[in-house]
Amino acid sequence: MTTQERQATQDPQVKKTVDIDWANLGFSYIRTDQRYLAHWRDGHWDEGHLTEDNQIHIAEGATALHYGQQCFEGLKAYRCKDGSINLFRPDRNAARMQDSCRRLLMPEISTEQFIEACRQVVRANEHFIPPYGTGGSFYLRPFLIGVGDNLGVRTAPEFLFSVFGVPVGPYFKGGLTPMNFITTSFDRAAPHGTGAAKVGGNYAASLMPGHEAKERKFADAIYLDPATHTKIEEVGAANFFAITRDGTTFVTPKSPSILPSITKYSLLWLAEHRLGLKVVEGDVRVDELDQFAEAGACGTAAVITPVGGIQHGEHFHVFHSETEPGPITRRLYDELTGIQFGDVEAPEGWIVKV
Ligand SMILES: *Cc1c(COP(=O)(O)O)cnc(C)c1O
Repeated sequence: MTTQERQATQDPQVKKTVDIDWANLGFSYIRTDQRYLAHWRDGHWDEGHLTEDNQIHIAEGATALHYGQQCFEGLKAYRCKDGSINLFRPDRNAARMQDSCRRLLMPEISTEQFIEACRQVVRANEHFIPPYGTGGSFYLRPFLIGVGDNLGVRTAPEFLFSVFGVPVGPYFKGGLTPMNFITTSFDRAAPHGTGAAKVGGNYAASLMPGHEAKERKFADAIYLDPATHTKIEEVGAANFFAITRDGTTFVTPKSPSILPSITKYSLLWLAEHRLGLKVVEGDVRVDELDQFAEAGACGTAAVITPVGGIQHGEHFHVFHSETEPGPITRRLYDELTGIQFGDVEAPEGWIVKV
């Protein structure tokens, strides 16, 4: 670091700027200035601190490296019209990380420490938060890993919790543009495995099916229920929803191997309370897609990506259109993103100001 840069970081009066083309951000790593790091040892978490170092030095026997003892989260900070910054339902991410920790025998991080870590990372990197109106946002990636000297299969002696952030554009380029997907015969999780926990192992299992789908020019793979392979579960790393032909009902799959998406449960609530739709969590049989007029993939990164069509075996099923989002999908998108960027009134507790 040069003397000039050091002065800039120490003098709070100096407003930092970065050279980023906000309108053309993708979803890729950009090193930002500060990240949060806390350490668990002797039965408790330390208070954590910010660091400029983006490398982690851990034991070669760390359980995170050998036995997949790790979990992560994803949430975003949004710049509002008035310049303030919103976090969207960070308490839900904290609660889900606690669920993932319990499933993998890792010590939970409290909701307070989780949200405080996110706040510190956003504040320390404020100049990286995309301006209002560019469509960009600041993606926060909390993660918790087993570390410390170890060899056998057991829970780690020590743990790290960290949060870093990256400015991002839409995950699938083009925003609300429909994408086509293809079902895979592989599973990302077992029927009573770790599908409902946000853990790296599920993602390792998804790399090859995702790669095969992309080689065939589809946006990603659709996972079916691992027990019978007859019902839709997930769309890549996003949840699935559909709107019935008569336009009255929002339907989303229910299964213990689906990762409970906070975006999905937010859309379910908005569909019922703001759009006046009926909402159903139930089976979506892959051979009965004719009953739906629209379909979408949803998640923090994907926001809502309309599903144009689904290839299943020899059959290609088109929903609303391969080029235009359906009308209800668009209304859900406008409502959700309006709330996130502070333009639409949020349900109680959904927005936490940084
Ligand atoms: C994170 C994730 C989602 C989306 O969850 P959100 O809380 O909406 O971001 C969906 N499916 C999988 C497999 C995930 O890991």
